[in-house]
Amino acid sequence: DRSRLLRLVNTPAVTLDGEKIELLANIELPKDTEAALAAGAVGVGLFRSEFLFMGRNHHLPGEEEQYQAYVRALEGMRGLPLTIRTIDVGADKPLNDSVPDAAHLNPALGMRAIRWSLAEPAMFLTQLRAILRAAASGRIHVLIPMLAHVSEIRQTLQMLDTARSQLDARGVAYGEVDLGAMIEVPAAALTARLFLKYFDFLSIGTNDLIQYTLAIDRADESVAHLYDPMHPAVLQLLADTIRAARDMGKPVSVCGEMAGDTAFTKLLLGLGLRSFSMHPAQILAVKQEIVRSDTSKLVDWAQQVLQSEDPAAAMAQKP
Ligand code: PEP
Ligand code: MG
Repeated sequence: DRSRLLRLVNTPAVTLDGEKIELLANIELPKDTEAALAAGAVGVGLFRSEFLFMGRNHHLPGEEEQYQAYVRALEGMRGLPLTIRTIDVGADKPLNDSVPDAAHLNPALGMRAIRWSLAEPAMFLTQLRAILRAAASGRIHVLIPMLAHVSEIRQTLQMLDTARSQLDARGVAYGEVDLGAMIEVPAAALTARLFLKYFDFLSIGTNDLIQYTLAIDRADESVAHLYDPMHPAVLQLLADTIRAARDMGKPVSVCGEMAGDTAFTKLLLGLGLRSFSMHPAQILAVKQEIVRSDTSKLVDWAQQVLQSEDPAAAMAQKP
């Protein structure tokens, strides 16, 4: 129950066999950092920055307003690292009336996330400048959503260079950032090793990874029964991405709903995951699962689940 969970706030997230697990928060607005700290998060793994932009119609936040919001979030985390995802609008998160998503044939396959940012360079550069400036006041990681192509990676890096040059030209101070890629398209998961050449860390967005792997619109209730995190193809992509990052010695996290669902905690630990980012309300329940887990006993079982044609049944044989 809740009061027992609350006692875990200051307990380190360490497994029975001594593995340290990083529990991070997903936030939508700077004020959510309060809930993140209250739940004992050791950082923000996903700040969905599009929430600063949504419902604003034609008055998108400018550089100064964004800069202040990012600094507020940093201050809210009192020195703990903050991962800001660049704007991820489109599909289930329409920006405003001028982006008539319903008019597109397949909004989830259309102009969204990094595709939109690269198509709107002035907007993207404004956001990157605001983030770089905020990085002068604390540890910021930048996370890029929905990448699939190396050309998009190169263009994104180019944009970051341009944003830095623009700040240099204005003589404005900015800081270093770590750069990460969201793995949420099967193409990205299948080429995770390539992504790792360009990025400091990866974050797996299982909500979209499941949608795109299984061709199930995550917002369409008529096919919701087929939206299956335990589909062998989804598990394979997850396992391969975690493996690739671990092999290359770079951090990898899961920030989709699976990370905050205690039904999957042991499986993700068994697959080698050591960093989870979730809604603050889930953190203590996941921590409880972690402090009761022995990862050394989960590895073989996770491989069995992975190889099973009925992973849900194999899951039930939990050690
Ligand atoms: C995801 O796709 O899993 C994710 C974390 O991003 P969002 O839910 O914001 O699309
Ligand atoms: Mg996503």
